Amino acid sequence: MNFSKLPLPGIKGAYDYIITGAGCAGLSLLKRMMHHSLFNDKKILLIDKAEKSLNDKTWCFWEQQSGIFEDIVYHRWQQIDFYSNDFSARFDLLPYQYKMIRSIDLYTSVLDEAKHHPNIDIVYEDILLVENVANAAVVKTIANEFCADYIFNSIIFTDWKPQALLQKHTYVLLQHFKGWLIETNKAAFDERIATFMDFRVEQNKGTSFVYVLPMAKNKALVECTLFSENILQQHEYDAALKNYLQSYLNIEDYNVIHTEFGIIPMTNFKFSKGEKRIINIGTAGGQTKSSSGYTFQFIQKHSKKIINALINQNDPLNIKVNASRFYLYDSILLNVLSNKKMSGDKLFAQLFKNNPIKVIIKFLDNETNFKEELKIMNSVSLTTFLPAAIKEVITALLR
Ligand SMILES: Cc1cc2nc3c(=O)[nH]c(=O)nc-3n(C[C@H](O)[C@H](O)[C@H](O)COP(=O)(O)OP(=O)(O)OC[C@H]3O[C@@H](n4cnc5c(N)ncnc54)[C@H](O)[C@@H]3O)c2cc1C
Repeated sequence: MNFSKLPLPGIKGAYDYIITGAGCAGLSLLKRMMHHSLFNDKKILLIDKAEKSLNDKTWCFWEQQSGIFEDIVYHRWQQIDFYSNDFSARFDLLPYQYKMIRSIDLYTSVLDEAKHHPNIDIVYEDILLVENVANAAVVKTIANEFCADYIFNSIIFTDWKPQALLQKHTYVLLQHFKGWLIETNKAAFDERIATFMDFRVEQNKGTSFVYVLPMAKNKALVECTLFSENILQQHEYDAALKNYLQSYLNIEDYNVIHTEFGIIPMTNFKFSKGEKRIINIGTAGGQTKSSSGYTFQFIQKHSKKIINALINQNDPLNIKVNASRFYLYDSILLNVLSNKKMSGDKLFAQLFKNNPIKVIIKFLDNETNFKEELKIMNSVSLTTFLPAAIKEVITALLR
């Protein structure tokens, strides 16, 4: 191995690459680095503020083939149900599968694997900042400073929301949700079918739906999700979950064995992709799809492209994960939702009623072609979407 790097004066450690944040993006990138021989002799540092001991998130995503985390897929579904007051249906996903990964399994598998790589250091310290200096990038923690050729950063250091609210033509919604992993005494679920979205619930606090992810006949994750400007009080999510279990699933007798709460930005505010030797990844790097909150697969695409850029000695800052037109579509959707031109339940009902499920999945993954996108646009209310589209196109042209 060729660990020839010398620290900058006054700096504790010098690395080829530093990954700040051992969450989904940081560990997805580290995993890909461990799986390519180019990185065997690179000195890599991973820093997070705390060791990973909790199952704090459940990631769901679609995939046709096996992904790099196939061995830790916890459950998968080939059929999903969609419910709303206007339209309900069951969809076959093949050739896709809707897969679930528990965050603790991802953390444990990648961190355990990293222990077998002597070129990887792992440090648990609170990071204060990352900055570019001449010919290097530096991470500062309370106790230490580390430098590297590149820092891949997944930490959001300053709250994005006040910055976004100050910007013109920027929509700021939050996707917030609370989920209960429940166990029932009697068989209550079909573990082969997930409820992807159920919009039949109250819509008066924002676009609201529940999803149900059964893993066994007596076990499911039931989550209540809202798209709105502000989050709710915890007891309001609890009441919504309780009511859903009772009124829609007829389940009265259950134990809550785990709780999950989350907030995901739904905004066309542009998160910085980084600068010079600091490359932002994950939500911090803009990998969250603003109209849906889905991030996991965009993180995978981004980390794959970063690895390719490093292998080919290209600047990883210049990577583009999605075509710009998808940013425009997301802004149009946020415009309609934020300005309450159409309620989310009606909008998603039109989308699911009038398009093949495979095209909807491709669209949510930013993988449709323009012809498919035209069909999707034609499938939703033109009187609602056309003015929003015109406004967003003009805004984009003036930017
Ligand atoms: C509960 C929840 C469920 C989600 N479910 C899905 C889903 O089903 N599908 C999907 O596509 N997306 C989902 N998302 C969205 C997205 O995939 C996740 O938020 C994902 O974890 C984003 O990855 P990340 O690496 O950007 O951030 P994180 O995974 O949050 O990683 C950031 C890391 O940085 C560390 N850190 C933060 N500040 C500091 C500091 N100052 N010093 C040191 N370390 C620090 C944190 O400890 C953390 O480990 C979900 C989000 C949440 C919150």
